[in-house]
Amino acid sequence: MNYENSLDYTKQLDKDDPLAYLRNQFHIPKDDKGNDWLYFTGNSLGLQPKQTQKYIQQELDDWAKYGVEGHFEGETPWLPYHEFLTEKMAKIVGAKPLETVVMNTLTTNLHLLMVSFYQPTKQKYKIVIESDAFPSDRYAVQSQLKFHGFDIEDGLVEWKPRAGEELLRIEDLETIVEEQGDEIALLLIGGVNYYTGQYLDIKRIAEIGHAKKCIVGIDLAHGAGNVQPNLHDSGVDFAAWCTYKYLNSGPGSLSGLFVHEKHAHNRELPRFAGWWNHNKDTRFNMRQPFDVMSGAEGWQLSNPPILSMAAIRSSLDLFDTVGMDALREKSEKLTGYFEYLINQIDTDRIKIITPTNPEERGCQLSIQVQHADKSLHQKLTDHHIITDWREPDVIRCAPVPMYNSFEDVFRMVEILKGLL
Ligand SMILES: *Cc1c(COP(=O)(O)O)cnc(C)c1O
Repeated sequence: MNYENSLDYTKQLDKDDPLAYLRNQFHIPKDDKGNDWLYFTGNSLGLQPKQTQKYIQQELDDWAKYGVEGHFEGETPWLPYHEFLTEKMAKIVGAKPLETVVMNTLTTNLHLLMVSFYQPTKQKYKIVIESDAFPSDRYAVQSQLKFHGFDIEDGLVEWKPRAGEELLRIEDLETIVEEQGDEIALLLIGGVNYYTGQYLDIKRIAEIGHAKKCIVGIDLAHGAGNVQPNLHDSGVDFAAWCTYKYLNSGPGSLSGLFVHEKHAHNRELPRFAGWWNHNKDTRFNMRQPFDVMSGAEGWQLSNPPILSMAAIRSSLDLFDTVGMDALREKSEKLTGYFEYLINQIDTDRIKIITPTNPEERGCQLSIQVQHADKSLHQKLTDHHIITDWREPDVIRCAPVPMYNSFEDVFRMVEILKGLL
């Protein structure tokens, strides 16, 4: 792309953007004068689609109107409610409906998946994560190691960037698995790293792990609704992701879960049980011996929180009308423009640590600012530029194709330039 650094040009980009209309379908936080904030933290909490209120209100109304009969009555009865989400969610991550379910929250799901897919033996018990894994994932795998009686120092293997580098190299994972694969039971890797924004080749990770009979799981918290991970084709064994980041479904909202078709009918897998992964046809007989459902639904435990699922249904309907192809196309352009503008700032204090290749990143850019401290982040916030600060010196900034404009990134970079 040949970009230009001018406000007129930026406005033209917005005018030509076929997805520009979507911004108006979101609540954009505003300052006292009614000006929109420059919101770049859709990677942390996505903004609220205006239609979400209607979706939640509908369930409140059904509850008021029908009480417990709401499980069977109304437009969207609660008994099969999660099924209204499955197909659209599956499409977003490139999975089959059989492989996909929405349930629980992310870290809970990682544990439930490890109950089934982390079956260590004395010889094969180690877990590989990225050295910059999200803290919750690190704590989760450490506690799984301990739960099974292993030492966490010995059992946790870190895939690290090389000295002086920020990004992970797939060859280094290959080396780890070649050297220690006989002792490794599980690779649990963030598909898009939360810190650097690096989008890893998850198909390649699956091949590397499977060559040594390791299970491969992917945390897609920063990938779902941001990149197109083609989970089914990638061959990974399982994945999970939250819905409050790029999937705009509200604070603390539920998680998506993927279990590959190859495990869909394996009734021998160890797993925890509840009434919601029991056969739907006999669930309410209440006296049956446990009869596990096939596919991802076979990992559910509880009847789900409908109000939270209503927010997810609203968001998924939006994603479904737009489609990930169109979103991704805009995203590459928007982040490309952002990168171009940052690189135009005349200073050697700034370095983008996110990969430059659009295929190796989503929308987020992680910008390292030398000799900066958190006061820079505070000054940005004072200008109503909402970004995310990571110690010691990185600003994470995610222009989201659903609601961010080219003008947003232009104005952000103008203000950043002034502050440096
Ligand atoms: C956001 C995020 C989480 C948060 O987990 P919750 O269980 O939803 O609180 C976990 N892992 C990663 C990689 C994340 O980005």
